[in-house]
Amino acid sequence: MAGEPQDDCLFCKIVAGTIPATIVRETETTVAFRDINPQAPTHVLVIPKAHYRDAAELAAHAPELAADVLRESAAVADEDKLDSYRTVFNTGSGAGQTVWHAHAHVLGGRGLNWPPG
Ligand code: C5P
Repeated sequence: MAGEPQDDCLFCKIVAGTIPATIVRETETTVAFRDINPQAPTHVLVIPKAHYRDAAELAAHAPELAADVLRESAAVADEDKLDSYRTVFNTGSGAGQTVWHAHAHVLGGRGLNWPPG
């Protein structure tokens, strides 16, 4: 069910502390950790602690939590002293989503092309 922890979810396990991650920020509702396969000098994932399969489900069921994720994404960029950065939610496999727990990618520290690939 939306919002409930899922036994087979990698990011729920990171929230629970049963899978290690390099955590850079944590709030009551969110965790931010360095991506294991970074695509830029700063590549941090910001996730809600509650499980939602993607950004659309998160926004539909828990808009205040979606705002927490965006606020924390800005805080990550601030901590890494990024003037410019990109916040990405891949939604659906065709857009590159591989982990089915909503997450914002915060990318920065190098030039970022537009449009993305
Ligand atoms: O948007 P997408 O679902 O593809 O993003 C998942 C991200 O989670 C990938 O960038 C991947 O490198 C990252 N990841 C991670 N730690 C893990 C497993 C995946 O940072 N243990």
